[in-house]
Amino acid sequence: MNLSRFPRRRYTEGHTPLEFLPRFTEAVGGPNIYIKRDDLLGLTSGGNKTRKLEFLVADAMAQGADTLITCGAVQSNHCRLTLAAAVKEGLKCRLVLEERVPGSYNPEASGNNFLFNLLGVEKITVVPAGTNMAEAMGKVAEELAADGRRGYVIPGGGSNAIGATGYVACAQEIQQQLFEKGLDIHQLCVASGSSGTHAGLLTGFIGCNLNIPVVGVGVSRDPEDQDPIVHQVALETAERLGMKQDISRESVVTFGDYWRPKYSVPNAKMVEAVTMMARTEGILLDPVYTGKAVAGLIGLCRKGYFKKGENVLYVHTGGSPALYAYTRPILGLEEVAE
Ligand SMILES: *Cc1c(COP(=O)(O)O)cnc(C)c1O
Repeated sequence: MNLSRFPRRRYTEGHTPLEFLPRFTEAVGGPNIYIKRDDLLGLTSGGNKTRKLEFLVADAMAQGADTLITCGAVQSNHCRLTLAAAVKEGLKCRLVLEERVPGSYNPEASGNNFLFNLLGVEKITVVPAGTNMAEAMGKVAEELAADGRRGYVIPGGGSNAIGATGYVACAQEIQQQLFEKGLDIHQLCVASGSSGTHAGLLTGFIGCNLNIPVVGVGVSRDPEDQDPIVHQVALETAERLGMKQDISRESVVTFGDYWRPKYSVPNAKMVEAVTMMARTEGILLDPVYTGKAVAGLIGLCRKGYFKKGENVLYVHTGGSPALYAYTRPILGLEEVAE
Protein backbone atom coordinates (compact mmCIF):
# COMPACT_ATOMS: atom_id res chain seq x y z
CA MET A 1 0.00 0.00 0.00
CA ASN A 2 1.34 3.37 -0.96
CA LEU A 3 0.31 5.98 1.59
CA SER A 4 2.66 8.67 0.29
CA ARG A 5 -0.02 10.08 -2.01
CA PHE A 6 -1.97 11.33 1.03
CA PRO A 7 -0.98 14.67 2.56
CA ARG A 8 0.63 14.11 5.95
CA ARG A 9 2.27 16.20 8.67
CA ARG A 10 4.87 14.37 10.75
CA TYR A 11 4.70 14.64 14.54
CA THR A 12 7.00 11.76 15.56
CA GLU A 13 10.59 11.19 14.56
CA GLY A 14 11.14 7.57 13.56
CA HIS A 15 9.28 4.56 14.97
CA THR A 16 7.80 4.08 18.42
CA PRO A 17 9.57 1.25 20.33
CA LEU A 18 8.30 -2.33 20.08
CA GLU A 19 9.52 -4.14 23.18
CA PHE A 20 9.19 -7.36 25.14
CA LEU A 21 7.71 -7.05 28.65
CA PRO A 22 9.49 -9.78 30.66
CA ARG A 23 8.17 -8.94 34.15
CA PHE A 24 4.62 -8.26 33.05
CA THR A 25 4.68 -11.54 31.10
CA GLU A 26 5.80 -13.35 34.25
CA ALA A 27 3.11 -11.66 36.35
CA VAL A 28 0.38 -12.69 33.91
CA GLY A 29 1.83 -16.20 33.63
CA GLY A 30 0.55 -16.74 30.13
CA PRO A 31 1.75 -15.82 26.66
CA ASN A 32 4.75 -13.61 25.91
CA ILE A 33 3.55 -10.02 25.98
CA TYR A 34 5.13 -7.41 23.72
CA ILE A 35 4.19 -3.75 23.66
CA LYS A 36 4.06 -1.11 20.92
CA ARG A 37 4.81 2.15 22.72
CA ASP A 38 2.41 4.52 20.98
CA ASP A 39 2.20 6.32 24.32
CA LEU A 40 5.60 7.72 23.23
CA LEU A 41 4.35 9.32 20.00
CA GLY A 42 4.99 13.02 19.39
CA LEU A 43 2.85 16.05 20.42
CA THR A 44 2.03 16.77 24.08
CA SER A 45 2.37 13.50 26.06
CA GLY A 46 1.80 11.27 23.01
CA GLY A 47 -0.91 8.68 22.42
CA ASN A 48 -2.78 7.22 19.47
CA LYS A 49 -4.50 10.43 18.31
CA THR A 50 -1.12 11.77 17.17
CA ARG A 51 -1.03 9.26 14.27
CA LYS A 52 -4.55 10.15 13.17
CA LEU A 53 -3.85 13.88 13.40
CA GLU A 54 -0.89 13.59 10.99
CA PHE A 55 -3.40 12.96 8.21
CA LEU A 56 -6.33 15.00 9.58
CA VAL A 57 -4.35 18.19 10.18
CA ALA A 58 -2.68 17.89 6.75
CA ASP A 59 -6.19 17.74 5.26
CA ALA A 60 -7.30 20.75 7.33
CA MET A 61 -4.31 22.78 6.15
CA ALA A 62 -4.85 21.75 2.52
CA GLN A 63 -8.35 23.18 2.89
CA GLY A 64 -7.03 26.48 4.24
CA ALA A 65 -8.41 26.07 7.78
CA ASP A 66 -7.23 28.46 10.50
CA THR A 67 -8.96 26.68 13.40
CA LEU A 68 -9.34 23.04 14.41
CA ILE A 69 -12.67 22.11 16.00
CA THR A 70 -13.14 18.80 17.77
CA CYS A 71 -15.03 17.14 20.60
CA GLY A 72 -14.58 14.60 23.36
CA ALA A 73 -15.26 13.74 26.98
CA VAL A 74 -14.14 16.03 29.81
CA GLN A 75 -10.73 14.27 30.12
CA SER A 76 -10.31 13.72 26.36
CA ASN A 77 -6.83 12.78 25.17
CA HIS A 78 -8.01 13.42 21.63
CA CYS A 79 -8.90 17.03 22.51
CA ARG A 80 -5.51 17.55 24.20
CA LEU A 81 -3.64 16.24 21.15
CA THR A 82 -5.74 18.12 18.59
CA LEU A 83 -5.02 21.29 20.54
CA ALA A 84 -1.30 20.39 20.67
CA ALA A 85 -1.24 19.89 16.88
CA ALA A 86 -2.96 23.27 16.44
CA VAL A 87 -0.29 24.91 18.62
CA LYS A 88 2.48 23.29 16.60
CA GLU A 89 0.95 24.38 13.28
CA GLY A 90 0.09 27.92 14.38
CA LEU A 91 -3.66 27.23 14.20
CA LYS A 92 -6.37 28.00 16.76
CA CYS A 93 -8.42 25.27 18.44
CA ARG A 94 -11.95 25.12 19.88
CA LEU A 95 -13.27 22.17 21.85
CA VAL A 96 -16.78 20.87 22.52
CA LEU A 97 -16.76 18.69 25.66
CA GLU A 98 -19.56 16.22 26.36
CA GLU A 99 -20.37 15.75 30.03
CA ARG A 100 -20.99 11.99 29.60
CA VAL A 101 -21.11 11.55 33.36
CA PRO A 102 -23.41 14.34 34.65
CA GLY A 103 -21.55 16.86 36.80
CA SER A 104 -18.14 15.55 35.70
CA TYR A 105 -16.89 18.80 34.12
CA ASN A 106 -14.76 20.74 36.57
CA PRO A 107 -12.94 23.71 35.00
CA GLU A 108 -10.21 23.35 37.64
CA ALA A 109 -9.67 19.59 37.19
CA SER A 110 -6.16 18.26 36.65
CA GLY A 111 -5.05 15.86 33.90
CA ASN A 112 -6.03 16.67 30.32
CA ASN A 113 -8.33 19.47 31.49
CA PHE A 114 -5.34 21.28 32.98
CA LEU A 115 -3.48 20.79 29.70
CA PHE A 116 -6.37 22.29 27.67
CA ASN A 117 -5.78 25.50 29.59
CA LEU A 118 -1.98 25.32 29.64
CA LEU A 119 -1.85 24.77 25.85
CA GLY A 120 -4.09 27.80 25.34
CA VAL A 121 -7.41 26.49 24.04
CA GLU A 122 -9.34 29.32 22.38
CA LYS A 123 -12.75 28.27 23.67
CA ILE A 124 -14.39 25.30 25.42
CA THR A 125 -18.10 24.62 25.08
CA VAL A 126 -19.53 22.06 27.53
CA VAL A 127 -22.69 20.19 26.46
CA PRO A 128 -24.78 17.54 28.27
CA ALA A 129 -24.59 13.79 27.61
CA GLY A 130 -26.41 12.68 24.47
CA THR A 131 -25.93 15.99 22.60
CA ASN A 132 -25.50 15.62 18.84
CA MET A 133 -21.78 16.40 18.74
CA ALA A 134 -21.58 16.84 14.95
CA GLU A 135 -24.27 19.52 15.19
CA ALA A 136 -22.60 21.20 18.15
CA MET A 137 -19.28 21.36 16.26
CA GLY A 138 -21.11 22.60 13.14
CA LYS A 139 -22.39 25.51 15.21
CA VAL A 140 -18.85 26.39 16.26
CA ALA A 141 -17.78 26.32 12.59
CA GLU A 142 -20.67 28.69 11.71
CA GLU A 143 -19.65 31.06 14.48
CA LEU A 144 -16.14 31.17 13.06
CA ALA A 145 -17.39 31.63 9.49
CA ALA A 146 -19.45 34.63 10.63
CA ASP A 147 -16.15 36.16 11.75
CA GLY A 148 -14.50 35.47 8.41
CA ARG A 149 -12.56 32.50 9.80
CA ARG A 150 -12.35 28.92 8.61
CA GLY A 151 -12.85 25.99 10.97
CA TYR A 152 -12.09 22.34 10.20
CA VAL A 153 -14.22 19.83 12.09
CA ILE A 154 -12.51 16.65 13.29
CA PRO A 155 -14.96 13.97 14.46
CA GLY A 156 -14.72 12.51 17.98
CA GLY A 157 -11.52 10.50 18.38
CA GLY A 158 -10.46 11.49 14.85
CA SER A 159 -12.09 8.25 13.75
CA ASN A 160 -12.95 8.61 10.10
CA ALA A 161 -11.17 7.15 7.06
CA ILE A 162 -8.64 10.00 7.04
CA GLY A 163 -7.68 9.56 10.71
CA ALA A 164 -7.67 5.75 10.55
CA THR A 165 -5.09 6.01 7.77
CA GLY A 166 -2.66 6.87 10.58
CA TYR A 167 -3.13 3.35 11.94
CA VAL A 168 -2.73 1.80 8.51
CA ALA A 169 0.66 3.51 8.56
CA CYS A 170 1.22 2.03 12.03
CA ALA A 171 0.44 -1.46 10.68
CA GLN A 172 3.16 -0.93 8.08
CA GLU A 173 5.54 0.26 10.80
CA ILE A 174 4.81 -2.86 12.88
CA GLN A 175 5.37 -5.08 9.84
CA GLN A 176 8.79 -3.53 9.30
CA GLN A 177 9.76 -3.83 12.98
CA LEU A 178 8.73 -7.51 13.13
CA PHE A 179 10.81 -8.16 10.02
CA GLU A 180 13.84 -6.36 11.45
CA LYS A 181 13.55 -8.21 14.77
CA GLY A 182 12.73 -11.57 13.17
CA LEU A 183 9.75 -11.68 15.50
CA ASP A 184 6.54 -13.58 14.90
CA ILE A 185 3.45 -12.13 16.57
CA HIS A 186 0.38 -14.36 16.87
CA GLN A 187 -2.25 -11.85 18.01
CA LEU A 188 -2.56 -8.12 18.59
CA CYS A 189 -4.60 -6.53 21.38
CA VAL A 190 -5.74 -2.89 21.53
CA ALA A 191 -8.36 -0.64 23.14
CA SER A 192 -11.40 -0.12 20.91
CA GLY A 193 -13.30 3.15 21.44
CA SER A 194 -14.33 5.48 18.62
CA SER A 195 -12.62 2.69 16.65
CA GLY A 196 -10.25 4.44 14.23
CA THR A 197 -7.24 2.75 15.84
CA HIS A 198 -8.70 -0.75 15.76
CA ALA A 199 -10.13 -0.26 12.25
CA GLY A 200 -6.90 1.23 10.90
CA LEU A 201 -4.75 -1.61 12.27
CA LEU A 202 -7.14 -4.25 10.93
CA THR A 203 -7.28 -2.60 7.50
CA GLY A 204 -3.52 -2.16 7.46
CA PHE A 205 -2.76 -5.78 8.39
CA ILE A 206 -5.15 -7.08 5.74
CA GLY A 207 -3.69 -4.64 3.20
CA CYS A 208 -0.15 -5.83 4.07
CA ASN A 209 -1.21 -9.50 3.96
CA LEU A 210 -0.06 -9.81 7.56
CA ASN A 211 -2.09 -12.57 9.05
CA ILE A 212 -2.32 -11.28 12.64
CA PRO A 213 -5.77 -11.22 14.29
CA VAL A 214 -6.60 -7.86 15.89
CA VAL A 215 -8.44 -8.23 19.19
CA GLY A 216 -10.17 -5.10 20.46
CA VAL A 217 -11.19 -4.52 24.06
CA GLY A 218 -14.24 -2.25 24.15
CA VAL A 219 -13.89 0.79 26.43
CA SER A 220 -17.49 1.95 26.09
CA ARG A 221 -19.48 -0.77 24.29
CA ASP A 222 -20.00 -4.54 24.13
CA PRO A 223 -19.30 -6.39 20.85
CA GLU A 224 -22.84 -6.21 19.43
CA ASP A 225 -22.59 -2.41 19.43
CA GLN A 226 -18.84 -2.00 18.91
CA ASP A 227 -18.13 -4.44 16.06
CA PRO A 228 -20.37 -2.78 13.43
CA ILE A 229 -18.72 0.59 14.15
CA VAL A 230 -15.21 -0.84 13.73
CA HIS A 231 -16.27 -2.66 10.54
CA GLN A 232 -17.79 0.48 9.01
CA VAL A 233 -14.66 2.60 9.62
CA ALA A 234 -12.48 -0.25 8.25
CA LEU A 235 -14.56 -0.47 5.06
CA GLU A 236 -14.40 3.30 4.54
CA THR A 237 -10.65 3.30 5.14
CA ALA A 238 -10.07 0.41 2.71
CA GLU A 239 -12.08 2.29 0.11
CA ARG A 240 -10.05 5.48 0.59
CA LEU A 241 -6.88 3.42 0.07
CA GLY A 242 -8.32 1.68 -2.99
CA MET A 243 -7.70 -1.74 -1.40
CA LYS A 244 -8.89 -4.79 -3.27
CA GLN A 245 -8.96 -7.16 -0.28
CA ASP A 246 -12.25 -7.78 1.45
CA ILE A 247 -12.58 -6.84 5.11
CA SER A 248 -14.98 -9.42 6.45
CA ARG A 249 -17.33 -8.78 9.32
CA GLU A 250 -15.79 -11.88 11.02
CA SER A 251 -12.35 -10.28 11.05
CA VAL A 252 -13.67 -7.72 13.55
CA VAL A 253 -13.25 -9.17 17.05
CA THR A 254 -13.89 -7.29 20.28
CA PHE A 255 -14.52 -8.18 23.91
CA GLY A 256 -16.88 -6.26 26.16
CA ASP A 257 -17.47 -6.07 29.91
CA TYR A 258 -14.09 -4.69 30.94
CA TRP A 259 -15.41 -1.12 30.44
CA ARG A 260 -18.25 -1.50 32.95
CA PRO A 261 -19.95 0.01 34.88
CA LYS A 262 -19.64 2.89 32.40
CA TYR A 263 -17.22 4.62 30.03
CA SER A 264 -14.53 6.46 32.04
CA VAL A 265 -15.78 5.19 35.43
CA PRO A 266 -13.12 3.22 37.37
CA ASN A 267 -13.45 -0.50 38.16
CA ALA A 268 -11.32 -2.94 40.16
CA LYS A 269 -9.81 -4.74 37.13
CA MET A 270 -8.64 -1.41 35.68
CA VAL A 271 -6.94 -0.55 38.99
CA GLU A 272 -5.25 -3.97 39.01
CA ALA A 273 -4.02 -3.51 35.42
CA VAL A 274 -2.71 0.03 35.95
CA THR A 275 -0.93 -1.06 39.14
CA MET A 276 0.52 -4.25 37.63
CA MET A 277 1.93 -2.46 34.56
CA ALA A 278 3.41 0.32 36.72
CA ARG A 279 5.02 -2.09 39.21
CA THR A 280 6.34 -4.68 36.75
CA GLU A 281 7.51 -2.48 33.86
CA GLY A 282 7.35 1.13 35.08
CA ILE A 283 4.94 1.93 32.25
CA LEU A 284 1.97 4.22 32.91
CA LEU A 285 -1.46 3.21 31.62
CA ASP A 286 -4.57 5.39 31.97
CA PRO A 287 -7.85 4.87 33.84
CA VAL A 288 -10.26 5.34 30.90
CA TYR A 289 -8.78 3.38 27.97
CA THR A 290 -5.55 1.48 28.38
CA GLY A 291 -6.21 0.46 32.02
CA LYS A 292 -9.42 -1.24 30.91
CA ALA A 293 -7.82 -2.62 27.73
CA VAL A 294 -4.95 -4.18 29.70
CA ALA A 295 -7.53 -5.53 32.18
CA GLY A 296 -8.96 -7.27 29.09
CA LEU A 297 -5.51 -8.47 28.04
CA ILE A 298 -4.91 -9.93 31.52
CA GLY A 299 -8.40 -11.49 31.61
CA LEU A 300 -7.98 -13.06 28.16
CA CYS A 301 -4.60 -14.52 29.22
CA ARG A 302 -6.13 -15.98 32.39
CA LYS A 303 -9.04 -17.45 30.40
CA GLY A 304 -6.62 -19.02 27.92
CA TYR A 305 -7.88 -17.02 24.92
CA PHE A 306 -4.29 -15.82 24.55
CA LYS A 307 -2.32 -19.02 25.04
CA LYS A 308 0.96 -19.84 26.75
CA GLY A 309 3.72 -19.86 24.16
CA GLU A 310 1.98 -17.34 21.91
CA ASN A 311 3.45 -13.90 21.26
CA VAL A 312 0.84 -11.20 21.88
CA LEU A 313 1.46 -7.56 20.94
CA TYR A 314 -0.37 -4.98 23.02
CA VAL A 315 -0.62 -1.55 21.38
CA HIS A 316 -0.32 1.09 24.12
CA THR A 317 -2.50 3.98 22.95
CA GLY A 318 -1.38 6.48 25.63
CA GLY A 319 -3.57 8.55 27.94
CA SER A 320 -1.38 8.82 31.05
CA PRO A 321 -2.25 12.51 31.74
CA ALA A 322 -5.74 11.36 32.80
CA LEU A 323 -4.12 9.37 35.66
CA TYR A 324 -3.64 12.62 37.56
CA ALA A 325 -7.39 13.22 37.56
CA TYR A 326 -7.98 9.74 39.08
CA THR A 327 -5.33 9.40 41.79
CA ARG A 328 -7.74 8.52 44.63
CA PRO A 329 -9.46 5.47 43.09
CA ILE A 330 -6.14 4.20 41.74
CA LEU A 331 -4.43 4.36 45.13
CA GLY A 332 -7.42 2.69 46.78
CA LEU A 333 -8.47 5.83 48.67
CA GLU A 334 -11.89 5.70 47.06
CA GLU A 335 -14.10 2.67 46.47
CA VAL A 336 -14.50 1.49 42.88
CA ALA A 337 -16.98 -0.77 41.10
CA GLU A 338 -16.28 -4.53 40.79
C1 LIG B 1 -8.94 7.56 22.07
C2 LIG B 1 -8.16 6.60 22.84
C3 LIG B 1 -8.30 5.21 22.64
C4 LIG B 1 -9.31 4.63 21.71
O1 LIG B 1 -8.94 4.76 20.36
P1 LIG B 1 -10.06 4.82 19.26
O2 LIG B 1 -9.35 5.03 17.99
O3 LIG B 1 -10.96 5.98 19.64
O4 LIG B 1 -10.82 3.54 19.31
C5 LIG B 1 -7.49 4.35 23.34
N1 LIG B 1 -6.59 4.81 24.24
C6 LIG B 1 -6.44 6.13 24.48
C7 LIG B 1 -5.45 6.55 25.50
C8 LIG B 1 -7.22 7.07 23.79
O5 LIG B 1 -7.06 8.36 24.06
